[in-house]
Formats: sequence, structure tokens, C-alpha cells
Amino acid sequence: MKEQVLWCLAYMDLKELDKKYIAGTYNRFPVEIVSGKGSAVYDEKGERYIDMGSGIGVTSFGIADDGWIGAVTAQLGAVQHTSNLYYTEPCAKLAEMLCTRTGMKKVFFSNSGAEANECAIKAARKYAAEKKGEDFFTIVTLENSFHGRTLTTLAATGQDKFHSLFRPLTPGFIAVPANDAGALRSVAEKEKIAGIMIECIQGEGGVNPLERGFVTEIEKLCREHDIILMVDEVQTGNGRTGKLYSYMNYGIEPDVVSTAKGLGGGLPLGATMLGEKVKDIFGFGDHGSTFGGNPVCCAGALNVLGRIDEKLLAEVREKSGYIFGELQGSPGIESVTGMGLMIGIKTSRPAAEVVRDCMEKHVLCLTAKDKVRLLPALNIPMELLKEAVSVIKEAAAKE
Ligand SMILES: *Cc1c(COP(=O)(O)O)cnc(C)c1O
Repeated sequence: MKEQVLWCLAYMDLKELDKKYIAGTYNRFPVEIVSGKGSAVYDEKGERYIDMGSGIGVTSFGIADDGWIGAVTAQLGAVQHTSNLYYTEPCAKLAEMLCTRTGMKKVFFSNSGAEANECAIKAARKYAAEKKGEDFFTIVTLENSFHGRTLTTLAATGQDKFHSLFRPLTPGFIAVPANDAGALRSVAEKEKIAGIMIECIQGEGGVNPLERGFVTEIEKLCREHDIILMVDEVQTGNGRTGKLYSYMNYGIEPDVVSTAKGLGGGLPLGATMLGEKVKDIFGFGDHGSTFGGNPVCCAGALNVLGRIDEKLLAEVREKSGYIFGELQGSPGIESVTGMGLMIGIKTSRPAAEVVRDCMEKHVLCLTAKDKVRLLPALNIPMELLKEAVSVIKEAAAKE
């Protein structure tokens, strides 16, 4: 482990400082992370933890990955920011790579998942306004979804617990139950719909993959009614599910794909990919972002995305198979859901307790609703994965 000399506050002092000056939105785990390499992270005492969360699916190749650091620091030494008033190469190259690998046509860059979804919604609304009339503004999303924390993406989020005390939210959103094609069809036939936004695997909602037939029906409905099909790949994207984007597991062709989290490998970057129908929907001034497409973030993302090739994706699927094989039917585990390295574990004990016990054994896991959630780095070494899975199994089996 490298010597850590940047910061020197004692852990208890840090905890106090954080509590005093940081807005109270985060209930942090009692761990300070000071360094790491790949899927191993170290606390202030130099103790090692296995990272099964990768910063909520962000550090695609783990902490302090050499390839990513090389790409980022080279760009950092050249130019760190220009604004979108000028051309920069990493941004254009990344857009090309995203389009080449998905068949989408153009990209708008932003800084986060919520912003990537905001852009998707603006694209759908403008398309519908021009094509069908300005009263076709409604966006349909699914119950139990999660699309972000801005007031518009909160409106898109089909979970009431995020809404209370923040109303009024942006109007024009309807949530229908997941996997209920009949309900969706009746809404689409009654309302004036601009777009439908889905996560193929609901992440924050508890790692629930949508049923294949339902997703196919959504695509069909969108084609019949000229509705923009938006897939939120913020969490599921960039190799997470064992395909480059999760919609590729379902054989559909979305009109808009939004992504963020793992794309930047640890730096903030959102992307909204526009398909054939909406590729030219935005003109000068229709949308924008000061930081969006920042050359340092894009240089890092080019490195990350370039390495998510068929070989890596096969490894992701193989490791996924290992995790499912080990955990399914294991004592204290009621179900295992998800795809690739996006996994939800329903435990008999409360998920928060299992996660706490894992942390005491130096394995960092996440929760999603009532489940333990795993989002390890895509390249997590097999030895570390085995060690982590055995700790999780033991914690789940505890009486
Ligand atoms: C995390 C997440 C978001 C929000 O992303 P931010 O970068 O936090 O704004 C949106 N949609 C999904 C599916 C997510 O998992």
C-alpha cells in the first residue's frame, strides 16, 4: 500500500467535522476510506476491505486503476476544462465510441445520471411537441423505479417515499406497475404520451429485472403510438449486466439511452444517447451544460469503455454465475436476483444487519430496499470475489 500523506485528521475528528458541516442527507457507514487498489480499499488504520459496491457501480475497474489514471492524468496535464464553446477531442471520440458500440446516433454529455435523464425527457417532449402537438407531454415510468433526485427525475421516480415534502414536482408523469402490459397499454391509449422511461433492471428498487415479454410489449407499444422509448442505463450500463448496456439482454432498440455511474470510472460524467428518431431533436441553445463532456472525464471514460470488450463481458457473466451458484439456496438466503455483476440478495435477516456484519468482516456491500446489493468492480479478481462471497454467505446464515 502506498503511504497516505494527503490528509491527517483522526477518524473521530473527521466524523465530527462531517456531522457539523455536511448537510445531513447521508447516513454513512462507520468507515473512512483513504486509499485503495482495484477491489481492495484501505481505511485510516491501513486495514483492508473488499469493495463489493465500487462507489455504487462507479469505479468500473476499481480504485486507482492504472489505465484509467494514465488516461485521466495525461488529459489533466494538457487541459482540464474548456467549456462547450470549443472543440475537444476526448469528448468527440467518446461520443463516437458510444454510438459505434450501440448503434445510437448522437450523444449529449452531462455530469450525472439525473441530468442524463433530464436530457432524455427533454428530447422526448420536444419530439412529441413537434410531431404530435404540445399537449403530448406525458412521460410514463414504472412503479418502484428510480431516475434521480432533481425535481423532474423525482417526478419520474415511481416511489412515493422520495416525493413527500418536495411537491409540487414537475407535472406530466404517470407511474404504472412493472410487468403489467395491460395497465401500460390502457394508459398509452388514454393519455397523450411523449415517452416511456424504464430501467431494464430496477436498481434502487431492489435489483428486479423486468420480464422479457413486458419489455418487448413496451417496445411494440412505443412503435405503434410513436412514443419515445427511453432506457435509463445509469446503473445497468457500461458492462454492469454482462452486456455493454442492459437493454441488449432484451433485444430491443431504444430511442434514447441515458447512462452515467460506471461510464466515468470515478469522475462525474453522464451521457444521453439519441437514436435515429431524435438524433437531431436538439438545436443550438435547446440544452447545455457548463461541465458536460469535460475532457478529463471523457478521457477516463474512453479508457473505461474501450476496455469493456467481449472478453471482459464474458468474465462478468462468468463471475455472475459463480455468485448465483454460491448464494442461491444457501442458508438464510431467500432469493438472488439481477444480472451480471448487479445482484440483489433477499436475506431472511434484515439486509442492513447482514451488510453491517459483512463490514465487520471487512467486506463492503450495499443495500437496495430490503435486499443486500452487490455492484463490484467489473474486473474484481476471483480470489477477492470468493473471499467476499464466503463472508456474505456466513453473514446471511447467522441466526
Ligand atoms: C443512480 C441512478 C440515477 C441518478 O444518478 P445520479 O448520478 O445520482 O444523478 C438515475 N437512475 C438510475 C437507474 C440510477 O441508478
